[in-house]
Amino acid sequence: MASTPVSALPITDWANPAPGGWPVWGQDAAVARLRQAVRHDRVRHAFLVAGPDGVGKTTLAQALAQVLCCQDRPAPDLACGRCLTCRKIARGVHPDVQTFGLERQATMAETKTKNTTLTIESMRDLAATTALRPMEGRWRVIAVEDAETLQGPAQEALLKTLEEPPGFVVLLLLADDAELLLPTIRSRCQAIELRPANRPAVAAALAAHGTQPDRADEIAALANGRPGWAFRAAADAKLIKKREDAVERALAWIAGSAYDRLVTAVRLGDGFTKQRPETFADLGTLLGVWRDALLLRAALPHHLTYRGIAERLAELARGWNLDDLHQAVCAVQTCLADLESNVRPRLAMETMVLQWPINSNPSDSPSPRAAPPRPPR
Ligand SMILES: [Zn+2]
Repeated sequence: MASTPVSALPITDWANPAPGGWPVWGQDAAVARLRQAVRHDRVRHAFLVAGPDGVGKTTLAQALAQVLCCQDRPAPDLACGRCLTCRKIARGVHPDVQTFGLERQATMAETKTKNTTLTIESMRDLAATTALRPMEGRWRVIAVEDAETLQGPAQEALLKTLEEPPGFVVLLLLADDAELLLPTIRSRCQAIELRPANRPAVAAALAAHGTQPDRADEIAALANGRPGWAFRAAADAKLIKKREDAVERALAWIAGSAYDRLVTAVRLGDGFTKQRPETFADLGTLLGVWRDALLLRAALPHHLTYRGIAERLAELARGWNLDDLHQAVCAVQTCLADLESNVRPRLAMETMVLQWPINSNPSDSPSPRAAPPRPPR
């Protein structure tokens, strides 16, 4: 069976490992658990690796595959990164290491159907793959990206594979949100939760790969704990511009009048169905900006996410107290949860902005009190 390459970036770089010993940045706890399992030969047959996009799930899966299959291990729980096996895994062409996911599904599909969920056919394909003995080593390692997109019947099909995996199989389900999987699937996997990496870890990852320290710190600040995004952004200035634009949009929303805030809420709410991922991303940024406002008000500037707007945000937050800002942060969190649980988008958005503290001096329509007198015509 032809295997498709894993996502282009980030590639595990064993010459520049993170402090945890594997080239997986900001996830030392997860790496430590896996290293221990490998050292004691207690590798489970199924793992559920969960965490936000870009946090390191694919990289962790690839690193584990290399550790299990490497032909020239420097230690039982490390890979060399240089042997033919390690290189084949990095290129996605090792016969015993496969990645299933939307990308592969799109490549394999003959018809041009919507490719937003992993299909039952993909899971049957996976089941057939798990039955094959490894060709080159002891293990067959199979990663399932986008596992959160599996629907009912496809999950049932996967469950069958999970019930009796052959002894040589290690299955890694990679999901942005583990809660979307059946409890029966979750209970058959060892859970590995990847949390957003802290900013110094992301900056260190970039610096280790040649980004100037100042630049690395700037990108890390925008990365929201996702080293994968940071690597892509370091190679593509457009991503940084897009991120900065999103931060500006969030700031403008917050800085608007009550009326303008509501207009934006209605617009985003009405467009939600068509722009679901984009809206979630924008709300994630919005949450970060409100949190920064709270941090500025609490005099904790070292923890800011968006330093580029710190001065303007501090100016804006001056009129609000900590309770106001805490309420705004909670309102965004509630809105995100409401959208996940299918509350009407417009209602969720409107309810959110109505709980924000009133901006007595909105940026785009200055209040009469603050506006300078108009010159006579
Ligand atoms: Zn190797």
